[in-house]
Amino acid sequence: MPRCQRTFYRLAEGRLVAGTGIRQWTCRHCADAEVYETIRDPDLIQYRDLAYAYCAEQFGPPADRDRPTILLLGLRPECVHEAQERHYDLYLQRGSDPLQIRLQIGHEMFHRACSQGRIFHWTHEMLACMTSVRLLRRCGSGEYAQKREREWLAEACLLPLSDMLSTDLWTANPYPAGFYGRAYATGVMLAQAIGWSHLRRLARSLSPGGLPDVAGWLERLPPDLRAKAAAIMKGNDAAGVE
Ligand SMILES: [Zn+2]
Ligand SMILES: [Zn+2]
Repeated sequence: MPRCQRTFYRLAEGRLVAGTGIRQWTCRHCADAEVYETIRDPDLIQYRDLAYAYCAEQFGPPADRDRPTILLLGLRPECVHEAQERHYDLYLQRGSDPLQIRLQIGHEMFHRACSQGRIFHWTHEMLACMTSVRLLRRCGSGEYAQKREREWLAEACLLPLSDMLSTDLWTANPYPAGFYGRAYATGVMLAQAIGWSHLRRLARSLSPGGLPDVAGWLERLPPDLRAKAAAIMKGNDAAGVE
């Protein structure tokens, strides 16, 4: 069962919408009584499966690969690991158009496969944004991917790199303006400098405590690439995408 995305309370009483197979839950904790519902659209279910396969291929399958991933319409995109129920809920934003929904599925599926409901870190937002765009391109929506990319690169100027790096994603709600743009622009610069095959390893480079280990990842890069990546993450790449 889903949760209210504002209060995180579980929504106990769902009901089936006759003849559709869609289950709906009305929030009793919020004044506007927002509604959550399962997504049954076969195209979106197929895109979810493609997104999972893409993440498993690019980053390696998650240890909890058997846990199902359920698509829900809600207030905003979010990936929640329901550990007791042994599944993931991917919330998508009600009112989005089909391409926006696909972008959200790609982004949140990265979190399902790699962040697993417990990592809130700029590296994961960067890779989630890149995954969403790369997957759209692979699935024939290159034009929309291009538009999204242009918007993120334009937004990047709203947030300096140092502010993006120091944002605490556990407490920032919402994330600061330009956060995704700066994260994406940093990812594009890194990919141009060192190549995607090196960059994507950051997704599963974790400390023993399970947090992203940027220093350890840098350490394992070939020395020439390490210097380039370190310079970008210090904001020293004036020639990069701004
Ligand atoms: Zn609510
Ligand atoms: Zn995210």
